Amino acid sequence: MNAVSRRRSRRRHGLVAVAACTAASLFTGTASAATVTAPGVSDRSCIDGKRTDAAVGSQSVTVPGVSAVSARLSGAGGNWDLAVVDESGRVVAGSAFAGGDEIAEGFATAPGELHVQACRRTGSDPTAELEVETVELTEPAPRLQMVRIATPTEDSAAELASSGFDLTEHGGDGFVDAVLHGPVEAALLADQGFDFEVLIADLAARSVAERTAESRAAARGGGGGAGLPSGRTDTYRELADYSEEMQALAEENPKLVRYFTLKKETYSGRPVEAIEVAPGVKRRDGRPTFVMTGVHHAREWPSSEHTLEFAYELINGLKDGDKKTRRLLKRARVVFVPLVNPDGFNLSRSAGAALGASGGRDAPGGDETANLVIEGEYHRKNCRFLESTGMEGGSCTQQPDNGVAHFGVDPNRNYGGFWGGPGAATGDEAPFMDTAADYRGPGPFSEPETQNIRKLVSSRQVTTLITNHTFSNLVLRPPGLQAQGKPRDDKLLTKLGNAMAAENGYTSQRGFQLYDTSGTTEDWSYNATSGLGYTFEIGPDAFHPTYSTVADEYRGNTENAEGGGNSAAYMKALKSTGKTKRHSLIKGKAPKRSFLTLSKKFKTPTSPVLDGNGEEGDVILLPEKLKSKLVVGRKGRFDWHVNPSTRPIVDPDVKRIEPRRGKPSDPVEFAGTIVGAAPTCADFETEDPACFNDHPFKVKSGKGIDNGTAAVRIEWPEPGSDWDLKVFRDSDGDGTSEGEKKALGSSAQAATNSEETTIARPGLKPGKYVARVVNFSALSPYTGRVAFGKTPKTEVKTGIEKYTLACRAKKGGKVLSREKIAIDRGERLAVDLRKTCAK
Ligand SMILES: [Zn+2]
Repeated sequence: MNAVSRRRSRRRHGLVAVAACTAASLFTGTASAATVTAPGVSDRSCIDGKRTDAAVGSQSVTVPGVSAVSARLSGAGGNWDLAVVDESGRVVAGSAFAGGDEIAEGFATAPGELHVQACRRTGSDPTAELEVETVELTEPAPRLQMVRIATPTEDSAAELASSGFDLTEHGGDGFVDAVLHGPVEAALLADQGFDFEVLIADLAARSVAERTAESRAAARGGGGGAGLPSGRTDTYRELADYSEEMQALAEENPKLVRYFTLKKETYSGRPVEAIEVAPGVKRRDGRPTFVMTGVHHAREWPSSEHTLEFAYELINGLKDGDKKTRRLLKRARVVFVPLVNPDGFNLSRSAGAALGASGGRDAPGGDETANLVIEGEYHRKNCRFLESTGMEGGSCTQQPDNGVAHFGVDPNRNYGGFWGGPGAATGDEAPFMDTAADYRGPGPFSEPETQNIRKLVSSRQVTTLITNHTFSNLVLRPPGLQAQGKPRDDKLLTKLGNAMAAENGYTSQRGFQLYDTSGTTEDWSYNATSGLGYTFEIGPDAFHPTYSTVADEYRGNTENAEGGGNSAAYMKALKSTGKTKRHSLIKGKAPKRSFLTLSKKFKTPTSPVLDGNGEEGDVILLPEKLKSKLVVGRKGRFDWHVNPSTRPIVDPDVKRIEPRRGKPSDPVEFAGTIVGAAPTCADFETEDPACFNDHPFKVKSGKGIDNGTAAVRIEWPEPGSDWDLKVFRDSDGDGTSEGEKKALGSSAQAATNSEETTIARPGLKPGKYVARVVNFSALSPYTGRVAFGKTPKTEVKTGIEKYTLACRAKKGGKVLSREKIAIDRGERLAVDLRKTCAK
């Protein structure tokens, strides 16, 4: 063992010790297994409250105090559900998946008897196997806080982004908001030289207050949040509510709704559920697909609420004969996955429910233990058990999650596209190691949650994807990493992003604009399939505020929204999904009822994979296969709406860029004072030299130099002042921007105190450049800097990629014809398979 690795393993060990002790002290629980019998059958809900009828088989367990409870049902035929009910009648845990395997996990808040009920809804076998485990929670709770961390410089922002702390998506000039998990983390943050102010001093107290407000409003009868399409008003759904409602929607509307589960079960063994909505939902036609997901991150409850509510809105519209809904869904189908990460969600949501019910530490008889579950409530990641914590399998809910020991992988840093780059923790950085809030996982697509979405998106023509998160009022679009440069579909991505943001009042921006992220959903989906992808960060300031805000954000009853809120924004995405000129169309003739597949194999590049010391390693090339299916109609014609065949990173216009051997040049600093008068100069397009300052700089080349990118940035003290920025090539070499035609980069935001634009190869060539700083409405001088970076190592291929279109007489039959198809965005292509695919 060399010195470096020895040091690292000792660091790892120090952390582990903390988590392992906690684990040991917490395992004082009970376990039991028995066969339960439900002589009768009743297709009634199991998760509404205590039941003792003949369709229920039950067991009782006693808990001494605040406890984690885990019940598992197996071996049952037909459809069974499962619930744990406490003495007050509160459903502590529930499970309502399709079939007979159930996992109900949650938290009991007081000593007493728990009634564990297995409900037989269908099926002929009256018996099932029931296992129940309880673990008393006795460790004092850490006090969780929401804080605002100062990031006065770009370097400090980058350092914070890779620190492993639990950052939110909410930030601005000079700050990022974060969750601090107790005093240990506060001290760590201070140790690392960060200043912070406390925004919410006690998230547990806040949480109790919000749940209490919800139950008071519900008791008054109105609830908060009237106006959601489902009619729900009281509080956030729990996991089993999603299961029950999605199945009921499909059962009640068999022609409009299809319920299914994704390919992989989670670490706890849960299925990941989905519904598909469209008239004639079971037809294998060529409509394009809009995929909407919620809850990659466990604590982001409004993200799954909005996902399911939009499904209700469409289903209600179809049932009520709403013309607009029907028109939109004749041109597109929608797949909803409200809970990508059901393990994490169940931990967070059931902890939140328990905390609300207990009244927290300030309730009569309450103590620090009552708040213990707050760590669960603020869980972000999935339920992978981490090497470093020494925990091996079992129940996610029963794991201690104190201090820095946040187990799990961040599913939104685990997707393969550009995985392993900046903006995600490698698992090897002290002090958090693999407990970092944004731990990317041991490999690209290592997690069942991301494998599921990968498979779903790869098996359909998903022309639009929205992944819902909370919070910060953002509509984010690719790229997540600044180094990726401008995507080929930048204009279209921007246009749709802005149109949606006009409805919900959020800020429409590129993913990296707050901080770099890698391995995110849309960075993979867009780059692998060319389908447009967005992240919504719902709401201004909290992961799961009082429930009434869910309806307000959905309907646009907020300070920000100028349009119809997320409901209207999602409608715009749906409309865009069906717009042929925004994707590609294969118009074909083929023998009726023949079975077509459109497929493509390629490799998705990760980022150069960073190690714990920040050193770049190799790019991993992930084999991928897209394959979608269509059954030709009775008239022997088909319209297949598909994504373009050439991926965005395989730019037909760009030659392959080889990195140069060497280092970037030193930065160039400059500064400028006020020129011109604001009212006459307030024009970004001005050519009047009296209205701007020019700052010439050189991009050097030669031995040992790699200037792959040049980031030009200007800053000034107060956001009320406004300078704008353009960068030109100085083609006549006179040191000014006069007479230079086209800017290579520009930046003109309002209400900020900086502007920045990055030019990258191949647009960035060695030679002379000029930065033009325009006085839009400047009140103070500025400073500026040109920072050079290495050539990004992302693989840029040139050329055109093609699909393979195969035709069979029927599913599973022999391939009768096979042809290669190249199709670009906005193109229509006619194919005639009548002769080639004839039997
Ligand atoms: Zn999130």
